[in-house]
Amino acid sequence: MLKQTARPLGELENPNEFIPRHIGIGEADEQHMLSVIGEASRRALIESIVPRSIARAREMRLPPPATEAAALLELRAIANRNQVFRSFIGQGYYGTFTPGVILRNILENPAWYTAYTPYQAEISQGRMEALVNFQTMVCDLTAMPIANASMLDEATAAAEAMTLAKRMVRSRSANFLVAGDCHPQTIEVVRTRAAPLGINVVVGVVPDLMQQQDYFAVLAQYPSTSGMIHDMRACVDQAHAKQAAFIVAADLLALAVLAPPGEWGADVVVGSTQRFGMPMGAGGPHAAYLACRDDYKRSMPGRLVGVSVDAHGNPAYRLALQTREQHIRREKATSNICTAQVLPAVIASMYAVYHGPQGLKRIAQRVAAYTAILAAGLKQMGWELSAPFAFDTLVVKTGESTDIIAGRAHAAHANLRNTFPGGLGISLDETTTRDDIRLLWSFFARPGQALPDFAGFEKGVEPLIPPELRRTSTFLAHPVFNSHHSETGMLRYIRSLSDKDLALDRSMIPLGSCTMKLNATSEMIPVTWPEFAHVHPFAPRDQLQGYAELDEQLRAWLCEATGYAGISLQPNAGSQGEYAGLLAIKAWHASRGQAHRTVCLIPSSAHGTNPASAQMAGLQVAVTACDDNGNVDLADLKTKCEQHSEQLACIMITYPSTHGVFEMQVKELCAIVHQHGGRVYVDGANMNALVGVAAPGEFGGDVSHLNLHKTFCIPHGGGGPGVGPVCVVEDLVPFLPGHRAGGLPEHPVGAISAAPLGNAAVLPISWMYCRMMGAAGLTQATETAILSANYISVRLREHYPTLYASANGHVAHECILDLRPLKDTSGVMAEDVAKRLMDYGFHAPTLSFPVPNTLMVEPTESETLEEIDRFCDAMIAIREEIRRVERGEWPQDDNPLKNAPHTAESLLAAEWTHPYPREVGAAMADPKTGSGRQLKYWPPVARVDNVYGDRNLFCSCVPTSAYE
Ligand SMILES: *Cc1c(COP(=O)(O)O)cnc(C)c1O
Repeated sequence: MLKQTARPLGELENPNEFIPRHIGIGEADEQHMLSVIGEASRRALIESIVPRSIARAREMRLPPPATEAAALLELRAIANRNQVFRSFIGQGYYGTFTPGVILRNILENPAWYTAYTPYQAEISQGRMEALVNFQTMVCDLTAMPIANASMLDEATAAAEAMTLAKRMVRSRSANFLVAGDCHPQTIEVVRTRAAPLGINVVVGVVPDLMQQQDYFAVLAQYPSTSGMIHDMRACVDQAHAKQAAFIVAADLLALAVLAPPGEWGADVVVGSTQRFGMPMGAGGPHAAYLACRDDYKRSMPGRLVGVSVDAHGNPAYRLALQTREQHIRREKATSNICTAQVLPAVIASMYAVYHGPQGLKRIAQRVAAYTAILAAGLKQMGWELSAPFAFDTLVVKTGESTDIIAGRAHAAHANLRNTFPGGLGISLDETTTRDDIRLLWSFFARPGQALPDFAGFEKGVEPLIPPELRRTSTFLAHPVFNSHHSETGMLRYIRSLSDKDLALDRSMIPLGSCTMKLNATSEMIPVTWPEFAHVHPFAPRDQLQGYAELDEQLRAWLCEATGYAGISLQPNAGSQGEYAGLLAIKAWHASRGQAHRTVCLIPSSAHGTNPASAQMAGLQVAVTACDDNGNVDLADLKTKCEQHSEQLACIMITYPSTHGVFEMQVKELCAIVHQHGGRVYVDGANMNALVGVAAPGEFGGDVSHLNLHKTFCIPHGGGGPGVGPVCVVEDLVPFLPGHRAGGLPEHPVGAISAAPLGNAAVLPISWMYCRMMGAAGLTQATETAILSANYISVRLREHYPTLYASANGHVAHECILDLRPLKDTSGVMAEDVAKRLMDYGFHAPTLSFPVPNTLMVEPTESETLEEIDRFCDAMIAIREEIRRVERGEWPQDDNPLKNAPHTAESLLAAEWTHPYPREVGAAMADPKTGSGRQLKYWPPVARVDNVYGDRNLFCSCVPTSAYE
């Protein structure tokens, strides 16, 4: 056989090549699509779209593409350079058992990890129920009235709590008091966040500080980073007497046995839910939480899931109070958070569902008991502890023996925390065993000294929790936390929720600006390898060599892809990358004596995170206009640059624009801003139209963030985790984020995230993608994404015109369908089409961004022609339905669009009063063949009433009686 081909073995195509698995469009499909568009070749199409002036100067230098198996082998070798030690470090990161049923059916299950942020409520009921469980869990454990649906990490949650307090309290002081025994990474991030806002962070002993100065809020850790359980009740009262707020960073597991901060008056409570089933993963991803007083809720950051009703009056979930968010409020938003940590929040909530209140309490009691036994043994051996009380953490006063004991632990592959002067920290967790306790004792044994007898302590040891701070109240009484404790029950509960939702594992999610592409299984597999999952972010650096290599290679490849000189992978969402990038620009100006440059130009079409990040960085936003074609209006830009020339810090643009067009004058735009001494920030959310084709670092950008959860295959997880690397040109490299706790040197900007590598554990996904695609594969992906968007634009042209295109009628990798005229002819709004698509089994395109009453479609390179056609056919069938309304066959207020989505229940109702048959309501006919569809997605609820939900805000588990 081989001989007949007359080709040497080396030239034979490898049947396991990854590129055609990732890219859904084959050669024949491509020819067909090009003929529909009217271009001769893919190259010709790209050359007619991407301005010649910005075409890449040189090819990306990446290793040649590897097969899935080869890439996994190579990554395995990198993973093996991490050393998995037993971790007793604590400091916010603990060992935990991810229940197998949750590991496989959520963390490793595409039905959960490929879902999008739940903006389309009706097809997101499953994950929103899980998030309401999360909110209820946090409210119950903290005893606070309201909690949001996740924060990026504990440190940023503390920083957001600081700004929340600043917005809410009456005190006009600029001082923010922080307990010195908060986790060091929390203090570091709080300092970063406070500086640009003029907030003065004062670190010390809280009761003393409170006597010495004015303040608007106080932050303390409970239990503290060294394990002490402070009684803060008097401090809280003092703070309130001064019209200031008291913020508590609390360990959620400890709250199962400690009096929760809500019971002693805390105004805001934040923390991490990592130890509720999410592996340490070298620092992330994990869901943090933020809970607050009821009267703070309209100002709280992050997303909040609330309960509303659907069109039939049944309870239904949807995102609440969205008018606080950056999409709408822009620079006046309560925070810039967009992508958060939904998947880790779902996992934490399921951990609580699985264990229930009794289970959680037992886990916490066991940790507290082991800690008490460890302490008793150490005392018996003659050691002194730094604090009388503890939940899970002790600091042993080791003095001159510190290094010897730490060395013994190291030799036994165990990490103690060696950051306390003259002491060693030990934190226990759910995974601690009796053998671990004996092992720990052995490190502290003096020559010839006998180890304490574990069994001897078991009966008589009291937990080290101060009696007045023991929890007496119950929690998690809702049936959902008391019903699914068998594995069968849990499995079915998880499945029942994911069945309600539409994720990428069922159909295309054509969301413009979000790039919902394939998250290949081979990319996902390494995430849960123990060598990546079970290492502590602050383990000694020689144990994290694998991560160091991953970081270095991925940064090098992303530099190639973007044309930049330096990158930090620390920001754990695009919004955080924006923030880090703007801080870099500010610090650069300041380093040149130009700290007065604080004006940030932002075009009116920008994503809401841009102005929100600028505000957080202490910049003043000046909006520049767009012209009728959706391009940045260069005349207006020049005027604004001249007007603000002395104060100009930067411009933030998105390229290709959020209007889905490659603006021809981008180089000129960059030059104008540079002439006025400003820097150019290029929002990289649209990199899927650029990789391999054009590089922002080459055409005039100074800073960009990437969204690895868009362009580089990290799944959206239902709204996170994400990774938002910040990329800069040469002279800005010294201003990339630092991280003292992670061993990076002190420098001008500070830390952006709690962990030095941010959401480290999902970085293998993007590494695998780049490694398997190579330069040619990545370029082909970009070109195919552009091809598919243009194909859709042309196929739908007669039905829904594309709003913005370049002079030759082409678009970039997404197209905005203009539905605005339909309002006058039929009363149909873009939202109605979005909801009607659900009946056809599709997730809607991006709704009303960046232009109200439009839909922005982005197919990505991963969708097959068949699926793209299925989507177009559904869109065309819906247009036919609109035409019937236009012709007066169906009333404007009673037609399949206005009543969409249709639940099975409503279609089976005894009485059917609508002017169209039930089959039409269900969209049972295949839009292409007209015959019945075999597979049908049934929306679990009808259209959700947003206004009702915001007027009657309710954000925890629905009492079962509501369903009766
Ligand atoms: C998604 C997006 C962002 C924000 O990124 P997150 O990762 O969600 O924080 C910013 N700008 C644009 C244009 C985007 O599409």
